[in-house]
Amino acid sequence: KLSERLNTICSLIPSGSRLADIGSDHALLPTYAVMEGRAVSAVAGEVNQGPYDAACRQVAEAGLANKVEVRLGDGLAAIQPGEVDVVAIAGMGGALIVRILTEGKEKLDGVKRLILQPNVGEDLVRRWLLEEGWLLTSETILEEDGKIYEILTGDRSSSAEEENARLYADTTVGQPPVNLDREQLLEFGPFLVREASPVFRDKWAGEISKLQRVAGSMGRSDSEEAKGKREALERHIEFLKEVLVCLP
Ligand code: SAM
Repeated sequence: KLSERLNTICSLIPSGSRLADIGSDHALLPTYAVMEGRAVSAVAGEVNQGPYDAACRQVAEAGLANKVEVRLGDGLAAIQPGEVDVVAIAGMGGALIVRILTEGKEKLDGVKRLILQPNVGEDLVRRWLLEEGWLLTSETILEEDGKIYEILTGDRSSSAEEENARLYADTTVGQPPVNLDREQLLEFGPFLVREASPVFRDKWAGEISKLQRVAGSMGRSDSEEAKGKREALERHIEFLKEVLVCLP
């Protein structure tokens, strides 16, 4: 049985897609997506030999070798332009996801949807989508085995620029109202902060505790630079707390 995280990613693949799952590890997502009929074919890309071998075994055991092709390669080097409709990249850091997308940009010709699940650095992924003209179409947050995951979809859209401008325009949330600018919406997620689910609140309560520990460990150094950094972090923590208490 697939984890709730991978199941949610699978549900975001439009039926009948040609899928590439980059950093596929055991190829669970492409195997399941093909078995479910969501994907008509899939490429499982892996840069490391161990996971590549595991993916090959999984695909052979599922009897899907004619529909799921396992390929060894770094990021989007595993695919050709025009070959797939959907690219999923899940279970790695946001900075690595952004590097893979940037280095393989010309491979995204013809791709209609990106499904991205960064373990950290979600803001980097949102910023990349925005700057590259992909429309952020959904954000899902879920908790599984004590970890919180965000899953983002970016779609090609001729109206991406106007719609993204609306999505990231200054927004007021909560009571008493707090104003969020583009940078803050990139940090929280424009859909997630408006929805303000219990998991979203848990995530940010946890982030606040983490940042408080960081601020506490920064010590009381006299250097102007250290003082400035600590004060900026403290202001950021106060802002996060202010947003969290006022959410609907
Ligand atoms: N995508 C699966 C998931 O979400 O459950 C597996 C996530 S696993 C933690 C990350 C995988 O990405 C590893 O198998 C690793 O070998 C692979 N990986 C890391 N960097 C990569 C790259 N540049 N190109 C392809 N795969 C990569």
